[in-house]
Amino acid sequence: MKVAKRTFDAVIVGAGGAGMRAAVTLAESGLKTAVISKVFPTRSHTVAAQGGVSASLGNSEPDHWTWHMYDTVKGSDWLGDQDAIEFMCKQAPQVVVELEHYGMPFDRTDEGKIYQRPFGGHMSNFGEKPVRRACAAADRTGHAMLHALYQRNVRANTQFFVEWLALDLLRAPDGRVLGVIALEMETGEITVFQAKATLFATGGAGRIYYSSTNAFINTGDGVGMAARAGIPLEDMEFWQFHPTGVAGAGVLITEGVRGEGGILRNASGERFMERYAPNAKDLASRDVVSRAMVTEINEGRGCGPAQDHVMLDITHLDADVINKRLPGIREISIQFAGVDPIKAPIPVVPTCHYQMGGIPTNYHGEVVDYGNVIPGFYAAGECACASVHGANRLGTNSLLDLLVFGKSSGESMVDFIRKEPAALPEIPQGEIDKALARVNRVNTQTGGADVAQTRLAMQRTMQNHAGVFRFKDMLQQGVDKILDIEKQVQQTEIKDKSQVWNTARIEALELENLIEVAKATMLSANARTESRGAHVRDDAPDTPEHPNGRDDQNWLKHSLWYRDGNRLEYKPVNLNPLTVQSVALKTRAY
Ligand SMILES: Cc1cc2nc3c(=O)[nH]c(=O)nc-3n(C[C@H](O)[C@H](O)[C@H](O)COP(=O)(O)OP(=O)(O)OC[C@H]3O[C@@H](n4cnc5c(N)ncnc54)[C@H](O)[C@@H]3O)c2cc1C
Repeated sequence: MKVAKRTFDAVIVGAGGAGMRAAVTLAESGLKTAVISKVFPTRSHTVAAQGGVSASLGNSEPDHWTWHMYDTVKGSDWLGDQDAIEFMCKQAPQVVVELEHYGMPFDRTDEGKIYQRPFGGHMSNFGEKPVRRACAAADRTGHAMLHALYQRNVRANTQFFVEWLALDLLRAPDGRVLGVIALEMETGEITVFQAKATLFATGGAGRIYYSSTNAFINTGDGVGMAARAGIPLEDMEFWQFHPTGVAGAGVLITEGVRGEGGILRNASGERFMERYAPNAKDLASRDVVSRAMVTEINEGRGCGPAQDHVMLDITHLDADVINKRLPGIREISIQFAGVDPIKAPIPVVPTCHYQMGGIPTNYHGEVVDYGNVIPGFYAAGECACASVHGANRLGTNSLLDLLVFGKSSGESMVDFIRKEPAALPEIPQGEIDKALARVNRVNTQTGGADVAQTRLAMQRTMQNHAGVFRFKDMLQQGVDKILDIEKQVQQTEIKDKSQVWNTARIEALELENLIEVAKATMLSANARTESRGAHVRDDAPDTPEHPNGRDDQNWLKHSLWYRDGNRLEYKPVNLNPLTVQSVALKTRAY
């Protein structure tokens, strides 16, 4: 296979909010910067974010970054690193104002300041009452943000490589990162992107689950590439779920539907939430509802031929109420579930929404392998684990993460690149050959497994065995199943072997990344025998010794999964902020 080569000061994989924020810093410093993306930059998943980006601007009422920090530590169920959390919350007002100066069209208060709305878990005065901290542009904040960042990059002469698939990380024998190897989708040709510094900003991997709010492109490529290059993955057992995504499609149905009187029903039409939460019923908290739904499905009371979802019923509501209060939901149901909720219930399932874990970094965006910085390698955004979200992320803290850590990784890269000699080291041929062998395997495999079927088997296994509520036995079985499915992933066959725009080949290669994420998740979840944040196990229940099932004595630590031998190691949580006092451990309750 012929391989072309290009050289840059910096190469960034990913043109979402994180990648484009870092690119602004690099390109505006005069460095030759490449951004590689599978899709046109403004189609990255950041575009789908609606609610807002958090910052203690205090535009409508008093707020303070230490309150924001407190909420974030508590939200993380104390698994977040407090140095990184302090860094993020303190920087928030500055990065949001910078974004405003890039041209971000925020909504405005009457005085012309950035409009802010309340959001879950964001409180004033260390947990007192909800505070307006989410800076918003209507319900299209991510869309506005991504366009502002893209335009700023065009101005700074960032060089975009659009519709390219990065295949693998390239490392020197001493471990430093030398760049990536990538495939141009239009031609099928392969190019080495050599750079002094490489940033992964490849977003989430929500597509390991059967039902996900994530875009189809969210296949964890950066996480998979890092794992193959020997870098551990941190806290991969923690995934955030939303109770009501449209079954099969994953598009979100707001909690407001149940607020208007919607009822969840199982296969026999029973209002099952009455058994799980006699008082709050369908309006119990998200984790309680999601857990109840999964129990119904696991015990054979799910709906549909595969018994894999439940129904959200609003047929008893007045059609006028639905049209007036829930018009968007009606449209989503018709388009994505094929049902008009005025006449029939909506099939829903707890839906994977966000990956809390990822490639381990410090708050400078440098990738770290158990505390050792890997020279030339950086990660930011949803693919990275700084770790600010710990075991559970607060809404609006992800868009903030993109800005803060996109910027800090960009700054770290500028410093690193300026200290590097002009001549670039040689890339070992063996590194290039490894990536080519994977592509060649996909191109030539015969008699192998079907990509779509294998992916579906993985997604169903993840959904049933490592979902919202986790069962000891199911996790153990899940490990065996995923390791079995991995063997098929390594032998997938594509019928179309052509070069030009071969999406079948891309999907086969993406599946090789998804399976790394799936393995890391299943093995880390199976090993963590406590409940914390989004990771809730039946064998770690709420007891007086362990409120909410959390076991700080044994499990106040980050998981590190290494691909080699499926090894698990652990590293301590950093409970020491940079300048303020530690947020002391306590039981999480709202
Ligand atoms: C429906 C939805 C609503 C949300 N709402 C909010 C919200 O209101 N507030 C909030 O804070 N968070 C929200 N989130 C979470 C937040 O939007 C995401 O975590 C965040 O946008 C991820 O940004 P990112 O820059 O890390 O990656 P993304 O925006 O996902 O971008 C990833 C980039 O990597 C590229 N890429 C990936 N793999 C490769 C490869 N192999 N080769 C080349 N390029 C590659 C892609 O092309 C893309 O450009 C929401 C998420 C979803 C799914």
